[in-house]
Amino acid sequence: MDEFGLIDRYFARARTDDSVRVGIGDDGAVLSPTNGHELVAATDTLIEGVHFPEGLDSCDIGWRAVMVNLSDFAAMGATPRWMTLALSLSELNPSWLDGFATGVFDAAARSGVSLVGGDTTRGKNLVVTLQVIGEVPEGEAILRSGAGPGDLIHVTGHPGDAAAGLDEFDSSESSSLLRRRFLKPEARVAYGLALRGVATAAIDVSDGLYADLGKLLAASRVGARLDLDRLPVSEALRSRYPRPQQLKFALTGGDDYELLFTARSGELPEGGDTPVTAIGEVVVGSGIQCMEAGEAVEFDDLGYRHFS
Ligand code: ADP
Ligand code: MG
Repeated sequence: MDEFGLIDRYFARARTDDSVRVGIGDDGAVLSPTNGHELVAATDTLIEGVHFPEGLDSCDIGWRAVMVNLSDFAAMGATPRWMTLALSLSELNPSWLDGFATGVFDAAARSGVSLVGGDTTRGKNLVVTLQVIGEVPEGEAILRSGAGPGDLIHVTGHPGDAAAGLDEFDSSESSSLLRRRFLKPEARVAYGLALRGVATAAIDVSDGLYADLGKLLAASRVGARLDLDRLPVSEALRSRYPRPQQLKFALTGGDDYELLFTARSGELPEGGDTPVTAIGEVVVGSGIQCMEAGEAVEFDDLGYRHFS
C-alpha cells in the first residue's frame, strides 16, 4: 500500500455534510461557511513521547488529536465543522492505522466535524498535526481578554484527574477512572456554545489551571483571587492522594481540557452532565492570589511549559 492507498483506505470516508463542496482528493478543500459567521481555526501537534507516552493505543491518540482542538473551540464558543490531518509515520502498520482512524472519526463525530484533507508522510517519529476549522456568529467569539473586576471565575469538571491518570499510567494499581480521564478527554463543546453571550472570557485548561488562568488574566489585564477550598477536586483524587498532591494536580496538572471562564455573577447555562464550580473572583491588578481557609497562601508552580 502506498500513500494514496493509505489515504483512500483509512481517511477518505464519506463526508458528513454538504458544507464540504470539495473534500479529500483534490489539491485543496472547498468549504462553504454559514452566512453571517466568522471562521475560527485551531491547530495542535501531538508528538509521541512529548505529548503522550510512547506505546499509547492508536485509537486514544486519534481521539486526543481531535479533542485537544475541539477543546479550543469550546473555549471560543465556536462550532467546529471541518478538520485537516497531517500525519508523519515511521511505518505503515494497518492495525495501528485502523485504531487511529477509529479514534479520529469517533471524536469528530461527537461534534459533527468532517475530515476534508491532510498530508501523509514518512518520518522518524510519530507526529500528528490536526487542524480544526469552524465558525461563530460575527463578533460573538469568546476571547481571553474580556474578564473584568467583579466577574466570578468558574471551571468545569474536575481539574487534576487527567494528570493523576498520567502519573499512574504505568502503575498496576492505577485508578481506571483517572486513567480514563487522561486517555479519553471530552471537550466541553456544547457547554462552550452555551456560554456565548454569558462568559466574559474563557480559556481551556490544557497546561494546568493555574497557568491557564494566568494567561486569561494577563490577556484581560486583571488579577484574581482563587479560593483553593472551592477547587472541585474529584472524589477519586481525594481518596488516593494527600491534600498537597491533590492541589498540585488540580492546579498544575495538564491535559484536563476543561473550560475556565469568567462571568458576571448571575445565572449560568444549565450544565447538564457538566459540573460547573465557582472558584474565585476577578480583581483589579495582576496575578493570582490563592486563598485557603480565609488566608492568603503562596503557590508559585507554573504548570507545564515547553522550552522552560
Ligand atoms: P497534494 O499532492 O496536493 O499535496 P496529497 O497527495 O498530499 O495532495 O494528498 C491527496 C489528497 O489526500 C489531498 O486531498 C489531501 O488533502 C488528502 N490527504 C492526504 N493525507 C491525508 C490524511 N492523512 N487525512 C486526510 N486527507 C489526506
Ligand atoms: Mg500534500
